[in-house]
Amino acid sequence: MDIKKNEEFEIEISDMSDDGSGIGKTDGFTWFVKDAVIGDRVVAAAMKLKKNYGFARLVRVLEPSEKRCVPPCPVAKACGGCQLQQLRYEAQLEFKEKKVLNDLRRIGGFDIDRIEPIIAMDEPFRYRNKAVYPIGRDRSGRIIAGFYAGRTHSIIECEDCLLGYTDNKAVLDAVIAFMEREHIEPYDEKNGRGIVRHVLIRKGHNTGEVMVCIVINANDLKSKEKLCESLKASIPGLKSFTLCVNKKNTNVIMGDRIINVYGPGYIEDVIREKGHEVRFRISPLSFFQVNSVQMEKLYGTALEFADLNGNENVWDLYCGVGTISLFLAGHAKKVYGVEIIPAAIENAKENAVLNGIENAEFFVGKAEEVLPEWYEKEYKKSVKEAAENVELSGSEAAALSGKDAESGRIDVIVVDPPRKGCDEMCLKTMVSIAPKRIVYVSCDPATLARDLKYLCANGYSLDRVRPCDMFPHTGHVETVALMSRK
Ligand code: SAH
Repeated sequence: MDIKKNEEFEIEISDMSDDGSGIGKTDGFTWFVKDAVIGDRVVAAAMKLKKNYGFARLVRVLEPSEKRCVPPCPVAKACGGCQLQQLRYEAQLEFKEKKVLNDLRRIGGFDIDRIEPIIAMDEPFRYRNKAVYPIGRDRSGRIIAGFYAGRTHSIIECEDCLLGYTDNKAVLDAVIAFMEREHIEPYDEKNGRGIVRHVLIRKGHNTGEVMVCIVINANDLKSKEKLCESLKASIPGLKSFTLCVNKKNTNVIMGDRIINVYGPGYIEDVIREKGHEVRFRISPLSFFQVNSVQMEKLYGTALEFADLNGNENVWDLYCGVGTISLFLAGHAKKVYGVEIIPAAIENAKENAVLNGIENAEFFVGKAEEVLPEWYEKEYKKSVKEAAENVELSGSEAAALSGKDAESGRIDVIVVDPPRKGCDEMCLKTMVSIAPKRIVYVSCDPATLARDLKYLCANGYSLDRVRPCDMFPHTGHVETVALMSRK
């Protein structure tokens, strides 16, 4: 390969990588060209060269692909948030479907040539119910809010991200005006000085309740009551205003201490699907899916795959604040949830009470530890006792208690792990418990494919795969898969 660093060259883009970069070849050498899309002919400039592949920057488009569009957001290229805005929405969906299918074939070894169509959004903008804006100063010294440029921490000014709700700008304007008036410095991560680090805004999609939380590099924020008054005046739905203390020099945005300034410290939202409505409390620190519209469709799909009739015992592994568990509880006999973050389990229990749900039980811990322990102690015991009951009782009662023998059984396991997927110990225990169905909700097709391969080698078959577009314009894709016991 004779192209040198910084040299410009022409290239045809024939594919796209997982993170949304264009892929093309020159003399058998593979290039990843950021911001180029499949079908483009472009001029690119070589940036980084490896042995068999290289990274290049888009210089100009010579012939645009028919899949290309003009990104509606003016900072789409500079901002690190969106990777696919220059791709028409239908082409984004096609890209994501293909990514899931390819991973299942390549990593999972599944001999399939299609999956069910991705669940698209009707309106793929303004979907994020949560926004986190870093606050800083621009070169001229103005206080600005925006987003980090890809792979860096320089702030691109943008108060109205097109993925976020429209209230965000009014919140940011109020915060910045307050900082200017009160001479409060934005945090500077280079020297650790300054006060205001991030502004977190959350809104209940179906309730309209708004939460504002200011992340500060201090134990308190002076004149916070004044900020509270101006937020109340400009945000009609303001329900909660809090501060979050984070004095560590770290990339982690939130600290763990919350100071309540106004309201109950949380907002509520409801999600609805198949005639059921579940209400959730969301605190500044709790995990909640960011796309409420698609969340209902995602959980609806998980529920459809779980195929419950009201008599099942179900595990929801990696349950967060119990969203899926409580959603399933209305359709099952009993739901067990496990989650590693204690505060999330506190929320899950509160959410169960809030909804009058009594058939859900929650455990704090790692799925790969809690599930095996429960299997050894509780599960084996209950199944054994039930079996003994059958033996002790006379033949008349046998038919009845035969059902009891089944009563401890787990019929369905739902998992929704983070990107790294399930721990092998967790998968192994799932196989020992041997539920009729396993519903796998995944935010990373590669680890999904790896885990499904394990389950298929251990008594399960893959019945259905349906991606769901939870994050339009980004390279991320969520998938729901159904496995059943052979
Ligand atoms: N099902 C929930 C949350 C999914 S996100 C929802 O849809 O809202 C994945 C969750 O797994 C996070 O809440 C994370 O804290 C939790 N988690 C990560 N590793 C874990 C582990 N080893 N065991 C249990 N939970 C874990």
